Amino acid sequence: MDQIKIGKFIAKTRKEKDMTQKQLADALLISDKTVSKWECGKGLPEVSLMLPLCEVLDISVNDLLTGERVSDLDYKKKAEENMMNLMQENQRNKKNLTLSIICGIVTIVAVCSLVVIASYIEMHAAIRIALIVFAIVVAAIGVGAAGVLENDAGWWECPHCKAEFKASMKDYVKGYHTFTKRRLKCPECGKTSMCKHKIVRK
Ligand SMILES: [Zn+2]
Repeated sequence: MDQIKIGKFIAKTRKEKDMTQKQLADALLISDKTVSKWECGKGLPEVSLMLPLCEVLDISVNDLLTGERVSDLDYKKKAEENMMNLMQENQRNKKNLTLSIICGIVTIVAVCSLVVIASYIEMHAAIRIALIVFAIVVAAIGVGAAGVLENDAGWWECPHCKAEFKASMKDYVKGYHTFTKRRLKCPECGKTSMCKHKIVRK
């Protein structure tokens, strides 16, 4: 999905309708910040908003996702492409999250085994220390890889302005987190809060 192109198209069709961002937002019962976010290419409308948005702008969902008015001739081809894009994005995000979880589990098992071996099996002190150092390295690499994969899967959603954004690895690492939320600063409204991790566009 070309968010920039889609954003420009939303702005263009809105202006053709002689509407301000606020008027469009009011028609959809959302904030004008959200409309501005779409038009700047910083996020796609939620799927539940796509139909009402298209109705107001007098375009088809296919036009919206393509970022231009699609001719009847191209219609089917573009519709299929758009559907595939959405599905591929979802699949890629799901795959990364799964990989991240597997990576985490493998790391825990590997580190625990190494620690057990180092603690209970007779061996030279130097080898024992080397094994423990190795366990620490495995833990660091495993946790790091799991983090990169998780942060790369999907996007984060600000609870205040509903902005969708990708977190930098630095912010990701710093943020206090639960299983599905992480404390991050929203690049749109600047508020720091527990942002939801979204994987799939429904
Ligand atoms: Zn925000």
